[in-house]
Amino acid sequence: MYCQVIVDITHDSVARPFTYLIPGDLRVTPGQRVAVPFGSREKEGIVLSLCESTEIAPERIRSVVRTLEDYPAVLPPLMALAEEMAEKAHCPLAETLRLMMPAEMRGGRVREKTELRAALAAAPEEALKAAREERRSRKRREILELLAERSPRKVSEIAEAVKDPREALRSLADAGLIRLEREEALRTPGGGLQDARSDWHPLTPEQQEALEEVLPALKEGNGRFLLHGVTGSGKTEVFLHAVRRALEMGKSAVILVPEIALTPQMVSWFRARFGPVAAVLHSRLSAGERYDEWRRIRRGDARVVIGARSAVFAPTENLGLIVVDEEHESTYFSDHHPRYDAREVAESRCRRERASLILASATPSILSFARASRGDYMLLEMPRRVADRPMPEVSIVDMREELETGNRSVLSRELVRELSGCMSRGEQAMLLMNRRGYHSFVSCRKCGYVVKCSQCDISMTCHVEESAPPGRETLLRCHYCGSTQPIPEKCPSCGSPYIRYFGAGTQKVEAEIRRLFPDCACGRMDIDTTGGKDGHARILEAFRSGKTRILIGTQMIAKGLDFPQVTLVGVIAADLTLNLPDYRSRERTFQLLTQVAGRAGRGQKPGRVVIQTYRPEDPVIRMAARQDYRAFFEDEFRRRRISLYPPFTILARVLIAGPEEAAAENAVREAEKEIRDGLRTHPEWEKRILMMETEPPGIRFLRGQARRQILFKLLTGNETEMLCRFLTERAEAPRPGVTGCFEYNPTSMI
Ligand code: ADP
Ligand code: ZN
Ligand code: ZN
Repeated sequence: MYCQVIVDITHDSVARPFTYLIPGDLRVTPGQRVAVPFGSREKEGIVLSLCESTEIAPERIRSVVRTLEDYPAVLPPLMALAEEMAEKAHCPLAETLRLMMPAEMRGGRVREKTELRAALAAAPEEALKAAREERRSRKRREILELLAERSPRKVSEIAEAVKDPREALRSLADAGLIRLEREEALRTPGGGLQDARSDWHPLTPEQQEALEEVLPALKEGNGRFLLHGVTGSGKTEVFLHAVRRALEMGKSAVILVPEIALTPQMVSWFRARFGPVAAVLHSRLSAGERYDEWRRIRRGDARVVIGARSAVFAPTENLGLIVVDEEHESTYFSDHHPRYDAREVAESRCRRERASLILASATPSILSFARASRGDYMLLEMPRRVADRPMPEVSIVDMREELETGNRSVLSRELVRELSGCMSRGEQAMLLMNRRGYHSFVSCRKCGYVVKCSQCDISMTCHVEESAPPGRETLLRCHYCGSTQPIPEKCPSCGSPYIRYFGAGTQKVEAEIRRLFPDCACGRMDIDTTGGKDGHARILEAFRSGKTRILIGTQMIAKGLDFPQVTLVGVIAADLTLNLPDYRSRERTFQLLTQVAGRAGRGQKPGRVVIQTYRPEDPVIRMAARQDYRAFFEDEFRRRRISLYPPFTILARVLIAGPEEAAAENAVREAEKEIRDGLRTHPEWEKRILMMETEPPGIRFLRGQARRQILFKLLTGNETEMLCRFLTERAEAPRPGVTGCFEYNPTSMI
């Protein structure tokens, strides 16, 4: 027997299967990982298929060295998925196969953890008898008594009662009284929240109706749904019930959340209802935890998987359901190589594995809602909150007026008033400030110079480092590459000493809150405070338990969180996202404001929301204040049609970057010429192009790389796929001193 192996090297020149002989005593199945000779080295690979014969001469064929696990790491449908993705992303199969397992499994960088256990060799009575007769060693007697109570026990546990038990254990084992065994010890991630809604609520009629629509599809193994329910309508409860039914049918389920900040809550809800059948997968787990959770899923011990984007590749068998919660979030799209959209992957998996798909959101993406309107998804609507709870009451504060009346603080008088009331009633508040750091930029009052990152074409943000030595607490940080520098004492451009700070971030809001409400503990949640394995859970747990009463945060706190004691939500600067130069900035602003407003009044007490803005008349802000998704969708859909933006067209670009500006410029000119030549010979492609513009991108320098782009607006259609293939080839063509890529509807156009 022979097998075709994809060797774990992601170079185009070896992007094909290699044939190996399977030694007679080895059992190998497709999807299994194997060690194979490759050149003069040994490499890991994945078996693609088996075959009985080969064209390759017998003296040239080499043999599989060994299998790396005794089970296939990649299940057949995931193998097919990897092939489909490689085809689509134009990359070696080895690269997409890597998505299918924990990174550390490759290269054997993570292993099973075992622990030593002691078990009685005979009945407890005999052990007790032996204990009574034991004269030589007190330790031996105590160990026997412990084990007579309960056996087996971990040796580490015995060591808590009996000091240094190793020798005594060994002699007991030699005497045949006990057995020492190594057993696998699974590393289980913590990081849930304490409260956990563990009881099954009877569903409201709206929830019941939505569930009833899903169940037949779940049974049949099909169905694609868009669950559009206002914030607090109880969407989570619907899919908890759907998952329960899937489990009863013997199927498994995957629940995707858009970011790690939302896993603690979801994990605690699912663990409370389903116990250890629920597993969690995301990038913040330790290597050991990720490996063990992955194997629990692979073995079928865990049948509900909760996780961020990459959990869409969870090795579940008999998949029944994938839920994509907060489906509108751009984090489902992976910008790393290989690029993929977890929503698309979920859809493809569901089709392939005969499972149902539920996309859920209070603010569906324009794309998904348009597809639902067309009938691609079945639309399930839940227009009311559970238990007749009212939607929050929203007021818009004009920050220009605040300035005019002499209030230069980041907090308006109305928000301060509401906060005081909220605190005095013993309730909780959340404040959204969608920018981290203290000040957003530093500038010279005399000449207007703005301090920029030396590696990026971006102004640097001023941060206060709480742990830094005195005198060095403030520094400038680049939000793109992370590099830091001290705050200049004099203007680097004109030498003037008048350096001023502008704009506010989460740290500034926190300082302001501490000053105004010194007795109310507050928490801050942004990238800077959520490091480590349980960074998110720690901050959220403090807020859930009431230890902190005000939670300040970036978009991380805007969606999905359910804290029933929160009665007030403040949006510090609603305009931040609205001003971004991207055709999606209206959509993103509407989503962000609607979502964060929806955090208020989810419990017994009604909620209040204060939105601060310099553009109080802006229709997007007004529609978000009314939580009027339909109105926003109609308006935005019409705009996109008129100005020919997605979903009516495709935005794409060829992006070229390199350390030397001149090389990038040359390369982009060359690429442009090749593309124009190609179009001349393919008039059917040219017809698909609405716009083609070579221009520097919004950010000309990033991480020390000069960047150039060719921007496209394309019509959708059959020929477009061939055209994109061509553009990808031209973008990735090797050119001196640069690398290039082709981006199709990228999430960010900077
Ligand atoms: P959504 O995800 O739609 O914003 P959640 O699923 O988080 O809403 O539910 C909002 C709140 O309502 C939660 O606190 C939840 O415990 C509660 N809830 C959900 N369904 C019910 C129900 N059927 N009966 C009572 N409370 C419910
Ligand atoms: Zn200056
Ligand atoms: Zn930088």
